[in-house]
Amino acid sequence: MPGKMIVICAPSGTGKSTLLNRLKADHPDLMWSVSCTTRPTRTGEVHGKDYYFIKVDTFEKQIADGEFIEWAKVHSNYYGTSKRFVDEGLKNNWKMLFDLDVQGVDAMKKLYGADAHVIFIEPPSIEELEKRLRLRGTDPEHVISERINNARKELARKDDFDHLVLNDDVDRAYKDLKALVERILK
Ligand code: ADP
Ligand code: 5GP
Repeated sequence: MPGKMIVICAPSGTGKSTLLNRLKADHPDLMWSVSCTTRPTRTGEVHGKDYYFIKVDTFEKQIADGEFIEWAKVHSNYYGTSKRFVDEGLKNNWKMLFDLDVQGVDAMKKLYGADAHVIFIEPPSIEELEKRLRLRGTDPEHVISERINNARKELARKDDFDHLVLNDDVDRAYKDLKALVERILK
């Protein structure tokens, strides 16, 4: 059975991590691409599981060494996808799951075209997104503002991708997402 690449994209605060954690629990067959980032660790996040949390100079050295298949600056921090992980996955026909911003999605589409299945998750509104970011309580005010500004730009691209899921009610959204992923995996 050939490998698959499923790429999830959503403005920060939409509920992507919430939905992905459920998907990862239901689908241990999906190989999660652990990105590198220079942003601070949030409470509960685990190095090597959620991200590899690394320093800016380490990240920049890894860029220079060609260790990322794609990387981007998002909300003033670096994020990047391991080239080694993707190469291994393609060689071994893994079903790979990625969480990328729109720049990362564009890069993956350029590299893999229709083989990268992109699912965009949208919030019910910007106001609701702002509410979720505040309720999550993980980010200071200036970071929330930056994420909301970025969300407006990302939402303008919501129809450019392969699939769209609305995260209004979390259980309903998860049902849609799971069904979609299972259709792609078939
Ligand atoms: P993201 O990974 O997209 O940045 P999170 O999964 O961290 O977002 O969710 C942001 C906040 O919104 C969290 O506090 C989460 O519990 C909450 N949340 C997620 N989905 C919903 C939903 N459908 N309705 C209300 N709150 C939600
Ligand atoms: P967060 O800081 O909320 O975990 O993620 C911020 C943004 O960075 C999200 O839009 C997420 O999809 C994106 N992101 C996470 N990892 C990567 C990556 O490896 N590459 C790119 N381009 N974006 C990423």
